[in-house]
Amino acid sequence: MSNGHVDLHQFMEGVKRRNPHQDEFVQAVQEVAEDIFAFIADKAAYHEQQILRRIAEPDRVVSFRVCWEDDAGNIRVQRGWRVQNNNAIGPYKGGIRFHPAVNESVLKFLAFEQTFKNALTGLPMGGGKGGANFNPKGKSEREIMRFCQSFMTELYRHIGADVDVPAGDIGVGAREIGYMFGQYKRITGNFTGVLTGKGLEWGGSLIRTEATGYGAVYFLAEMLATKGESLAGKTAVISGSGNVATHAAEKIVQLGGKVVTLSDSGGFIHDPDGIGQEKIDWVKTHKTHRRGRIEDYVAAFPGATFHAGRTPWGVPCDVALPCATQNELLGEDAKTLVANGCRAVAEGANMPTDLDGVHVFKAARLLYAPGKASNAGGVAVSGLEMSQNSERRSWKEEELQQMLKDIMSGIHQACIRYGDQGGGYIDYVKGANIAGFKKVADAMLAFGVV
Ligand code: GLU
Repeated sequence: MSNGHVDLHQFMEGVKRRNPHQDEFVQAVQEVAEDIFAFIADKAAYHEQQILRRIAEPDRVVSFRVCWEDDAGNIRVQRGWRVQNNNAIGPYKGGIRFHPAVNESVLKFLAFEQTFKNALTGLPMGGGKGGANFNPKGKSEREIMRFCQSFMTELYRHIGADVDVPAGDIGVGAREIGYMFGQYKRITGNFTGVLTGKGLEWGGSLIRTEATGYGAVYFLAEMLATKGESLAGKTAVISGSGNVATHAAEKIVQLGGKVVTLSDSGGFIHDPDGIGQEKIDWVKTHKTHRRGRIEDYVAAFPGATFHAGRTPWGVPCDVALPCATQNELLGEDAKTLVANGCRAVAEGANMPTDLDGVHVFKAARLLYAPGKASNAGGVAVSGLEMSQNSERRSWKEEELQQMLKDIMSGIHQACIRYGDQGGGYIDYVKGANIAGFKKVADAMLAFGVV
């Protein structure tokens, strides 16, 4: 059984060798492996059955050509993927991302993370992710529709309500889900819960839109509560200005906090007066419906300043929520946040903090929640959408709000269970990694070598 007893370094060398040029994927595996190796040191079955090695090898990666015709009549060719990472505890589940930076490494890291995140929700969902290197920015409504239809014309054969259930992610919202669901239904003739994030009229769930951002703030509030603190009166720095960021901001404001930044790929805005509900509504309309830039905020609200090409981590704050994208918060940014007295960080995005940053937060014993724990509210409500679809009914908003709160609180408990380091320090990264791993690993042990 010698190959079951490689050390962390040897294991990671193997992951790097087998996944050349896939830096994001290697990073995500390393962040998990750092905690899991210590946890499984005295658990022979996990070694002998090569469980971590198997979770870090996707069940399959489907890559396909997506052709579409732009408004000028040019034929355009994109690459699409679906990464089905692991279905030990339920059908593959995870979003679809349309962004020019999408590649196999990014989707493999996201599908790997999703496997742990989905396990943490306590709902029966495996992990997957998909997407395309398509840039929705500047595209017309018709171009987006044609792209979504072409993408689904291949994807449909790989998914199903009990097989793999995609949803939205960066660049994919209710509009794109609508076009994809319409095409799926047209090709197969099936009206089933094959996608989540659907419109309320055609099988969608209440609070799905708000769930990721709200859930991240519920988790942040739970972390602060362990120190006898609340969000009331706290200053929050948030990155991003999409669905996750704006709903995180909304919930912070509802709980008495003050949000002072938002951002997009062009830079960040700093509003020392606070970004209240009216301003958040303006951002939602401007970014989501009009597809505008965050820099236009300063013309609408003159008290604010725009900082081109920069991230907001240098603005002093009590709590920070990275809600934009992977690797947007680096080691130096983490040091700045700690030096400025930031008390807690809850990730709304997936892997927004790089490995150096994670190590800085751990060393400073910060209240730091990795995305797989704090942003799980989105996929959790997707899981509830699947249940409602199977039952062919819709639950009430109050019921769903309560279920979301209970799920976030359950994840927080699981993190404490495996991440309590004593002396009042909870390592949420470790707690989330071990709790997510254990559930998937034990299911895999039950299935044998398959
Ligand atoms: N894309 C979201 C995530 O990263 C949601 C996935 C889903 O609802 O399936 O968790």
